[in-house]
Amino acid sequence: MIMEIIRVENLKHVYQTAAGDKLALDDINLTVDAGEFVAIIGTNGSGKSTLAKHFNALLKPTAGKIFVENLDTADEKNLWQVRSNVGMVFQNPDNEIVAAIVEDDIAFGPENLGIEPQEIRRRVDLALETVNMTDYKKFSPGKLSGGQKQRIAIAGAVAMRTKIIVFDEPTAMLDPQGRREVLGTIKKLHAQGLTIILITHFMEEAAAANRVVVMESGRIIKIGTPQEIFSDVAEIKRLGLDVPVAVEIAERLRRKGLRLPKNILTAAELADALKGI
Ligand code: ADP
Ligand code: MG
Repeated sequence: MIMEIIRVENLKHVYQTAAGDKLALDDINLTVDAGEFVAIIGTNGSGKSTLAKHFNALLKPTAGKIFVENLDTADEKNLWQVRSNVGMVFQNPDNEIVAAIVEDDIAFGPENLGIEPQEIRRRVDLALETVNMTDYKKFSPGKLSGGQKQRIAIAGAVAMRTKIIVFDEPTAMLDPQGRREVLGTIKKLHAQGLTIILITHFMEEAAAANRVVVMESGRIIKIGTPQEIFSDVAEIKRLGLDVPVAVEIAERLRRKGLRLPKNILTAAELADALKGI
């Protein structure tokens, strides 16, 4: 049975600044199913981070509503429950790591929830295993690579046992190796049943999602499967966005007259299609 876990209704967000009001989100409507992996793409300033902060009540709607597991995020008495359902992972892991030892860092969130030390140790070990960082539990986070640090930040969210994790450009500061590690971890969490919301500039990452949401100027302008979203290369480029490399190459080869099937998203799919020619 499919269950809705997030519902956004006519959400509007206005930032009040010294320079005047700034409309950052305008009439956003979106539902996310439990266990779904949703990617959000859009150019800088399109409102992605503002939307992300609404999912765990870091911001309150100027108008409209957000429900997480049917709880209104604007209602103060739901705050604790909403925050314990939605974890956040941001771009810069250096801003998120608080302790001098990896395992202490992961334990920090559960400790603040007042969880028993034995249960915390169990959660920390499981979280380390999930992100493939068990060997590093006694390390200083400062000694780790960007991808490893980001996986420690993810382990922190995993140890909180949230049902949803929102990632706001978690790979933007990482090298290709770090990006692969983090995407691999995100896919694993999704396979374990977590609901994933991934904001990204990397279209290969968006292609791994069940659905892609495209934002422009504070609005959602398209929602569809990766195949649907990336089927119109010209349209995506007009929006100032890219398509996955395999989509781009397939499109060029089609223009050269190669008869390739539609819906090619990944290098593996492209390779298979070329073998069949
Ligand atoms: P994105 O994450 O897609 O780059 P943001 O959600 O960060 O977009 O920003 C959406 C719009 O809101 C942008 O025009 C941005 O300048 C503005 N904005 C973001 N944060 C603030 C803030 N704290 N105060 C005022 N304006 C903001
Ligand atoms: Mg942003």
